[in-house]
Amino acid sequence: MTEIRLVVRCESNPMHAKILRILLKEEEKNGIAVRRLFRLIGDVLEGSSMIYIHAPSDKSPIGFCGLCRGKLKCTVQKVEV
Ligand SMILES: [Zn+2]
Repeated sequence: MTEIRLVVRCESNPMHAKILRILLKEEEKNGIAVRRLFRLIGDVLEGSSMIYIHAPSDKSPIGFCGLCRGKLKCTVQKVEV
């Protein structure tokens, strides 16, 4: 199966990292689970993830770390599992 991983890292403290995983359903493989991916990103932006609670800005498109206000970096991986 194919899994999309959204890896969010805090530049100040590696312990604040978070990985959001989306396991693609068979019927989604060609169309990609875009809606579910954006819902997870939305959770991060809106703070419902409880970790990344700050609003995004030009300098930090996915906001700041809610634990230490450090800068965040995000990468997206597609992995066969
Ligand atoms: Zn942090």
